[in-house]
Amino acid sequence: MKIDFPPDTYLHMLRDRIDLENIKDLILTHSHSDHLYAEDLVARSPGFAQSAEHAIQIYGNDLSIHKCSQVLGAGSSKFNLHRVEPFQRTEMQTATIVPLPASHDPLETCLLYYIEKNGKTILYGHDSGWFPDRTWEWLHGKKLDLAILECTSGHRHSRSHMNVDAALRTKERFTDLGVLKPEGLIAVTHFSHNAHLLHEELTDLFAPHDMIVAYD
Ligand SMILES: [Zn+2]
Ligand SMILES: [Zn+2]
Repeated sequence: MKIDFPPDTYLHMLRDRIDLENIKDLILTHSHSDHLYAEDLVARSPGFAQSAEHAIQIYGNDLSIHKCSQVLGAGSSKFNLHRVEPFQRTEMQTATIVPLPASHDPLETCLLYYIEKNGKTILYGHDSGWFPDRTWEWLHGKKLDLAILECTSGHRHSRSHMNVDAALRTKERFTDLGVLKPEGLIAVTHFSHNAHLLHEELTDLFAPHDMIVAYD
């Protein structure tokens, strides 16, 4: 499974020797260009790169799926497109997902994903902003093994992204609601360079709260 398809995907493939042909399911959070660079999907179409016959299943909101259909054209044999809606439980080949609403872009139904596989659960949480009430309500009673949060704006205030304070408050609320398993982990990522915080500085802020800082 892969989550989002940013323009960096080709770099990730070369640098980390990832075989993208192993992907069966691709899930998209929203259509912003750092999460979906649909044009590169065309490279798997007939007449471009040599690829296996199987179709990759793509799941996303209407805008993301529409963007994919525009570049792939109708009836691509290498991709099947699926529009998903918030709270709609979907069995994929590789895992079960439940899309949850984010507070990110008012022009689009941006999605977070609750992902379940082999008894383990992950919340993929960006781009989220502060979670909407109905997302909090849905999470109440869940037991996560891992939550991946965004921390885009550092110490700056942002309406559409989480900052350091919001990520810390999210952890507090997870604790209050018992949303994490006792051994559950929280990782923060999606750091904007405009926040002017280095990895070491982010680690100093989050390590005392047992939160993992990703390299981003
Ligand atoms: Zn975004
Ligand atoms: Zn983003």
